[in-house]
Amino acid sequence: MRRLIVTADYFQRKCKKRDEKFIADLRAFLKDDMHFPEKHIGRIIVLLRECLNKRNAQVAESTKHEIRKRARNNNKACYMCGGELEFDIGDSYNSVQVEHKWPKAMGGSSDNFNLEVACQKCNCKKSDYIDASDFHYEKICLVSDKKDEHFSTEMKREYELALWAKTEFKCSVCRKSPADAGKLKFARKNSNDSWHFLNIEIYCEKHHEIRG
Ligand SMILES: [Zn+2]
Ligand SMILES: [Zn+2]
Repeated sequence: MRRLIVTADYFQRKCKKRDEKFIADLRAFLKDDMHFPEKHIGRIIVLLRECLNKRNAQVAESTKHEIRKRARNNNKACYMCGGELEFDIGDSYNSVQVEHKWPKAMGGSSDNFNLEVACQKCNCKKSDYIDASDFHYEKICLVSDKKDEHFSTEMKREYELALWAKTEFKCSVCRKSPADAGKLKFARKNSNDSWHFLNIEIYCEKHHEIRG
């Protein structure tokens, strides 16, 4: 899906205002490179254009204000790391930010259901988390060391986000979010294997402990 959106974006930028050329290039890509059946291509093009339009939509200041206010009243934590949020205007690592759960750049809606409060630290690292699942996959493999006991606690926030995103920011056992269960932790599925993306599972504190 990411490949479709990114490629559609590329063709659109390349063809600038020439809409017909954009559609022709996109159609050829869907047919010749992606091998979609002819009968579905028209519909896919419609959806991709919708995605590209969404990214230009701005969240109204009043909507952001409303979401921040509600989060403050409910003492909400960052939905990604579970960290406490700083609600007063400021620029610290945990300053509250209203962010798109499914990124705007990937066609994420600017409607309420897709907006959530996050700390600045998570939000500014999240821009590439969608790519992260494959991009950071390689990186985690490269830096991983089987014998390193501290590996899971010393991970960079962008790796943490990529891993948390695997389970949609929830414990893989009880599906609790970090806002309810605290910062999510990591454990290896197979302890003889190294700390790499596919061998790392995501747990809440309780299930991390049970696992031992
Ligand atoms: Zn956070
Ligand atoms: Zn759990």
